[in-house]
Amino acid sequence: MSRKTETRREVAPREYKATVEIACDLCGAKRSQMMESGGGMVARDDWGKERFDVNEITIEHKTGMSYPEGGDSITTAFDVCPACWDTKLLPWMKSQGAEPHVTSSDW
Ligand SMILES: [Zn+2]
Repeated sequence: MSRKTETRREVAPREYKATVEIACDLCGAKRSQMMESGGGMVARDDWGKERFDVNEITIEHKTGMSYPEGGDSITTAFDVCPACWDTKLLPWMKSQGAEPHVTSSDW
């Protein structure tokens, strides 16, 4: 005999911020592959062509203060597609004398 008592309850809809499309800030290419996430359909925050592809580009500068009890920050970022990374940003960085940091991961 179960001692558990259950009842049905409704959860009020909640509003949340979701990315629905990403556009490259350099060439305008759009990323619009949608996937289920957090109860809704959102664009993936990467440029992979297939569902399990990982193809993320992060170019951002975060500044602010971080204390044990809290903090604040301002993030300045660009959305850049893989083609612009390969043909514009990477060549430009190398032309300035920078070499990329390359790491690999398995999980
Ligand atoms: Zn681009």
